[in-house]
Amino acid sequence: MVHRTARVGLRVTSGQRRRCFGLLRSAGDVWACVLEVNAWRRRRQNAPLTGYQELCRELSASGPGTFAELDTRGARSVLRRFSDAWFAAAKRRKTGDVSARFPRRRRGLVPVRWYHGTFTLDGRRVRIPTARGTRPLWVRLAREVPYPVEQVRSITLLCEGGRLFLDVTAEVPITVYPPGVGPDPGRVAGVDVGIIHPFAVVGPGGEALLVSGRAIRAEHRMHLADSKARRRAVARRAPKPGQRGSRRWRKYRARVRRVEGRHRRRVRQAQHEAARTVIGWAVNQRVGVLKVGDSRGVLDLPAGRRHNLRLRQWQIGRLLQILTDKATLAGITVHLVDERGTSSTCPTCARRVPKPRGRTLTCPHCQFSGHRDVVAAASIATRTPGGGPTTTGTQVVLPGVVTHRRAGRHLPGAGRSRRDPRRPPGGAKVRMARCGPPHQPVVGSRSPNQRGSTTTHRTAGER
Ligand SMILES: [Zn+2]
Repeated sequence: MVHRTARVGLRVTSGQRRRCFGLLRSAGDVWACVLEVNAWRRRRQNAPLTGYQELCRELSASGPGTFAELDTRGARSVLRRFSDAWFAAAKRRKTGDVSARFPRRRRGLVPVRWYHGTFTLDGRRVRIPTARGTRPLWVRLAREVPYPVEQVRSITLLCEGGRLFLDVTAEVPITVYPPGVGPDPGRVAGVDVGIIHPFAVVGPGGEALLVSGRAIRAEHRMHLADSKARRRAVARRAPKPGQRGSRRWRKYRARVRRVEGRHRRRVRQAQHEAARTVIGWAVNQRVGVLKVGDSRGVLDLPAGRRHNLRLRQWQIGRLLQILTDKATLAGITVHLVDERGTSSTCPTCARRVPKPRGRTLTCPHCQFSGHRDVVAAASIATRTPGGGPTTTGTQVVLPGVVTHRRAGRHLPGAGRSRRDPRRPPGGAKVRMARCGPPHQPVVGSRSPNQRGSTTTHRTAGER
């Protein structure tokens, strides 16, 4: 059994919206009260109240109805959140991390969580618990909860970018397969995590999978260009430091938050799609172990050319987490292995290829040529967790068939039917032509037989 959380949007009337925000604001009040009580105690040189139990005692002493429509269970979840944050910070400080901060900041809106038995989930409708004596609060969900009702353990009401969401956490059983078709621990696949291709996977038997993330990068690029342009356009109206912003400015700020939230959700969705593709493929191939190249080392490099926006947008840690979560659920084991040198070492003669450019790795020593990410994944498959950065002993098996998939097909501009409204009809080609590969039409370049085809590798002019 593992816990999984899905974020579901809420469809609310203005009255329900007001009540939901009331709950979040009341939770913010609970949070502020805890901070205030602890500030008094500090001034009196008493130990702060941090344990969940003692905080609950303090809450019940304040009596019912103190926090408007927020019920006791909801208020307690805020205390739990505070207590957890405090002890997490204490633990990190104990291990010598001085950057860890205890919760000190007031927050206007704090998420509220309710556990099983306090709320009612009925198809697309949810009754959110409220304080005794208040009208019941039923709200509609934007989509079905992706788990069976009996597996749902808690719901969390939260606000992101001005929109209301419900995080639904469920206890999900790990997939059980009929004998003979489940993942086989003897079948190992190597996974290379990259920027242009979020995942390149090489499995046993000469099969490989390449998931393209160009749509994600396009989304990043369009979002950056768009937000820059908007910022330039409104720079004149920006309030001076200390000056109160106009109503127009507040509206602009709210819009920025909305757009940022949408961008984040789009990217996250595409990352989940990419990981789901990998896991689906691995289950089909009966792969029992995924060896994933851990490249988080590139983020620890001292400030230099590696520290750029693209690398930060890559979000490698989250990609690894998403892949691991989905693999666990499918009954596949994930091992992180050192990936150093895998994309610059020739798989046939094991010699270093100086400065590989583009997506193709061409060895100057033995004339080997192949897709760089696929080669890297094949080398990663031969490495052992905890082992050194050299591939020794095991022979690298290169795949014969490469399946191509795309992540982020839902993104605007990725399909022909959904043109990105941010992309001007004429200007896009000019801009894209500059950074894309030459002699390749950008609009409509998607070949319809993309799925399942065995293609040769594309050569783009990018690393
Ligand atoms: Zn070679």
